Order: sequence, then C-alpha cells, then structure tokens
Amino acid sequence: MADLKPFFDSHKESGFPVNIRGLIESCGLGLNDSAELHNDIAGQIERLESNLENSNVEFKISTSITLTPEWKNFVMAHELGHYVLHESLIGAGLDDNVAFFSNPEGNYNNQNIGPKQEFEAHVFAAKVLMPELEVDRFFQHYLASENIDEEIQPNVHFGVPESVIAWWLGVLKEKSKADTLRD
Ligand SMILES: [Zn+2]
Repeated sequence: MADLKPFFDSHKESGFPVNIRGLIESCGLGLNDSAELHNDIAGQIERLESNLENSNVEFKISTSITLTPEWKNFVMAHELGHYVLHESLIGAGLDDNVAFFSNPEGNYNNQNIGPKQEFEAHVFAAKVLMPELEVDRFFQHYLASENIDEEIQPNVHFGVPESVIAWWLGVLKEKSKADTLRD
C-alpha cells in the first residue's frame, strides 16, 4: 500500500482549497478537467498506450466539462484515490458516473471496482480535500460566528460541493460515535 500521508498532508503546502491539480501532476499523471465524456459520466482514469510523446505518463485522469469547479475538484481527487489505492484493478481504465459506481455507459465498464472501492476512493478524496482537523477547526469558528452570511462558506473554503461536505460530516460523526463506543 502506498504511503498515504503525503497526500493527506498536501494542504500543508497549498492551503485550502487544496491544489488537487498540482497534486495529480506531481504524481506524474495526465489530466484533462474539461473532457467530453458520456452524459452520465463524471470522471474517468485510463491507462495510456505508451508512445514517444507521453512515454512517462502511464495514466490520465479526466473530468467532464459539464461539472462545476467544485465537483471537478472532488471527482479529480476521487480518481486520484483509485490510482493510489486500486492501481492494480484499473486495467485499461475505469469511469465513474454521477453516483460513483463504475458504469457501463462510459468508455470502460470495469467490474473489478465495486461499492467498497468507490467508498474507499470517496474517503481518500475527502481526507485529501477536507482533513478532519481542518473540518473541526473550520466549523468551530464558522458555527461560533455571529455573522455567518459574512463568513467564507464551507464549499468555498474547501472547494468541494455542499452535498459532499454534508456526506463527509456524516461519515466523521459515525466514526466518532464508533470511537466513543470503543472507549
Ligand atoms: Zn470511482
């Protein structure tokens, strides 16, 4: 298993929102954040045929041109998660529909990737873009503020869609419940 800490620490260099494009490039991956993909497909990662032009670039991440900038950030991080966690399962490639299950509509219908891998890629993306300590720090300040309207909003601070932040807060809450029960 790859050492995940440098990924989860990348905010220490870039601040928030995390520079996910820079992170992908630093891994030596190709990137196209405005790709023409099937209507239902949010993103994909594909293995490139080696040729002289891109002999060093083995994989390329693409996100759909139709996504908002915040969704692009999250989908890029999700695909990076598949690369880091599931490289041996990628085969020729995999694509994610808007519900993040590898999908027959796309260019690749990868049966090696199931709900477990999708959840893992989601958690990886969330940990890169929204580390738990920063979530705690941000929301403590945000919720204590008397003028929330004037505060930087969570989706702007993290560069991630509100619905994804809500999902991640739910996961962290379940985790802290489980931690409490264990004590
Ligand atoms: Zn996926």
